[in-house]
Amino acid sequence: MFDPTSLIPTEALRAFRDRIHRVAREKIGPQASRVDEKEFFNREAESLLWDHGLLTLTFPKKYGGYGKGRAVALCIGVEEIAKYCASSSLLLIIQAVGSFPIIHGGAKRIKQTYLPQMSQGRKPVAYLVTEPTAGSDVASIQTTAVRDGNHYILNGSKCFATSGGVAGIYSVLAKTSEGKNGSSFFLVERESEGLSIGRTERKLGQRGSNTTEVFLENVKVPAENLLGREGEGFLIAMKDFDMSRPAIAAQALGIAEGAVATIVQFIREKNTVETSMADHPVIQAVLADSAVLIEAGRGLTYRAALLNDEGKDDTKLASMAKCFASDAAMKITTDLLDVFQILNEYGFLKDSQLERMFRDAKLTQIFEGTNQIQRLVIARQMLKESMG
Ligand SMILES: Cc1cc2nc3c(=O)[nH]c(=O)nc-3n(C[C@H](O)[C@H](O)[C@H](O)COP(=O)(O)OP(=O)(O)OC[C@H]3O[C@@H](n4cnc5c(N)ncnc54)[C@H](O)[C@@H]3O)c2cc1C
Repeated sequence: MFDPTSLIPTEALRAFRDRIHRVAREKIGPQASRVDEKEFFNREAESLLWDHGLLTLTFPKKYGGYGKGRAVALCIGVEEIAKYCASSSLLLIIQAVGSFPIIHGGAKRIKQTYLPQMSQGRKPVAYLVTEPTAGSDVASIQTTAVRDGNHYILNGSKCFATSGGVAGIYSVLAKTSEGKNGSSFFLVERESEGLSIGRTERKLGQRGSNTTEVFLENVKVPAENLLGREGEGFLIAMKDFDMSRPAIAAQALGIAEGAVATIVQFIREKNTVETSMADHPVIQAVLADSAVLIEAGRGLTYRAALLNDEGKDDTKLASMAKCFASDAAMKITTDLLDVFQILNEYGFLKDSQLERMFRDAKLTQIFEGTNQIQRLVIARQMLKESMG
């Protein structure tokens, strides 16, 4: 297994990584295939993640957060869990993404009320931005929030909501006026009248994560549930990306490392009877190329996370990390399936872990902005920088 020690800045973070690795290997990993096969949200894994503080990592320390180094801690937690079960690692990501508008935009009273509810009451959060006609282009959302005295009335349809059907709290992006700065985030409780859960999506990968539609029909929320100021929604979503894109990169790294570990273990076990296997030039090339991609991806990922922790967000670097690591994970899992073929084994078949990892890798290229969009972000940023 690749050792990221040199990029993890403190002894405490290294100890954290080792602890999470053990939980992932011993408790979560053994359930991964069944969860994927049966496509269910694993409550047992969720409990473990709460027990180990993994669903509050980015919260302020007094509400169960990691404290200094939280973005790096999030990446470490995600990477270690994704080595064994990508679906479970997605829960860490969406919890951080969904709580970001509350932590960074919520008034003091909102944080004092809801963060303990989430951490002590163990309420997952969902992030409702995407709509049937608004994905990459967040500015084209149709959901509206209309002020009515001391309340806002929300109406609209959201889709692809990770944890949509299991969340207790929702961070919802809605239009408060027309134009680029016309969207705002709101905290909406699950029990709110008019909020309903639609279809649960069946997916190619990360099938143990819960993905649903969520409908809002005349949902009345107190005005104080506005997160940030009116019109700040887009800005909050963009800042959220600076933290979440390195976390997606960490998930992609974890999936790729899990896949490499599967093959390496297989070769070592088989080598006792057939010593030439590890000397096969194609296998060597794939293993070496995979290791190079993983190390390069790790450099980008943890540098972006470190900068986020230091408050020196680098949007271009966060996009590079997400784009590079997810493309790498897709290539690595694809190439390793070829290695299995060379070994006369059937990685393609359902009971191989590799087949699941190959499918799980695909999502890392799509969410938190597709890789086409990451390339746009990188190029635009380059041109902006060139103009000084
Ligand atoms: C399993 C899953 C979980 C998700 N979880 C969440 C969640 O919790 N909350 C949430 O809000 N969203 C979530 N999403 C939504 C996800 O972020 C969007 O799917 C993604 O942003 C792309 O949006 P879209 O699917 O509407 O594609 P579109 O925006 O319609 O794009 C379609 C295709 O066109 C490409 N494209 C679009 N615009 C351009 C352009 N300008 N230049 C080049 N290519 C372009 C895209 O890359 C894509 O390949 C999730 C999605 C999935 C699949």
